[in-house]
Amino acid sequence: MKIDIVSVFPEYFKALDVGLFGKAIERGLLDVSAHDLRDWTHDVHHSVDDTPVGGGAGMVMKPEVWAECLDDLLGLEPVEMADDGSETPDPPEADLSKPVLIFPNPSAPLFTQRDATELSRAGHLVFGCGRYEGYDARIPRYYRAQGVDVREYSIGDYVLNGGEVAVSVMLEAITRLMPGFMGNPDSIVEESYTGSNALLEHYQYTKPAVWRGMGVPDVLTSGDHGKVDRFRRDEAIAHTDRLRPDLIERLDCKALNKADRKTLMALGWEVSGPHPRKRAD
Ligand code: SAM
Repeated sequence: MKIDIVSVFPEYFKALDVGLFGKAIERGLLDVSAHDLRDWTHDVHHSVDDTPVGGGAGMVMKPEVWAECLDDLLGLEPVEMADDGSETPDPPEADLSKPVLIFPNPSAPLFTQRDATELSRAGHLVFGCGRYEGYDARIPRYYRAQGVDVREYSIGDYVLNGGEVAVSVMLEAITRLMPGFMGNPDSIVEESYTGSNALLEHYQYTKPAVWRGMGVPDVLTSGDHGKVDRFRRDEAIAHTDRLRPDLIERLDCKALNKADRKTLMALGWEVSGPHPRKRAD
């Protein structure tokens, strides 16, 4: 996978050379370049921002600089648009053999494991890190109109100073799902948010079986794999019911087995419709 990251702090991404990500670069699975947006400026101050049109605090990232940079990375020629901002171009069909342009943005839809799974199949990702009050809204609109698959994602309901942390989060979530990235591919099969009927994961324990007087559930040391699987599944359901009932509401009832239904019903869920619903009582 080719990865281009554009930032005013490209040195931030030196940290990617460590751990499994660094190994994936060494092995040639990932080809990562961090670019300095200021390399595409022409003025003596290398300015990438300007005051907001309409007034207000802070600065906004300029479209001209971003466009020169992105045209280079995407191999596009500049186009003069007849666009007064009143129409939103339809997003192009997702074609992951073409570059996908991703802007982190706190006012965008939330980035999820589903997005990470989809993007782990892409051949080329280009990330644009915002700073200040963010980037001129015409940038994603322009590239969408050029037929580029442009995504804007938030990594959570809070505001960071810049997109660098958000890009690191997305990159890690995406690349660890690529075939060949993990030493043991089984470790990403049974995880929180994973699969069509995604739950939070059950609790994990390691040895010793008793630590500072605290034991682990007996069933986990019983050697009965069927019982261990059921215990973990029930724990995952109970855990998700307590912390993220919204994930249970999205489960597909048809895909639940008899034991799952029994556990959910005991926790007060109705499982007769397409998705579970919490009983009113
Ligand atoms: N004015 C923006 C707002 O209120 O929505 C905040 C801009 S923020 C200070 C600057 C940049 O940080 C954004 O353009 C984006 O790239 C990044 N950023 C901040 N919070 C983020 C989040 N929760 N998810 C993704 N990116 C974020």
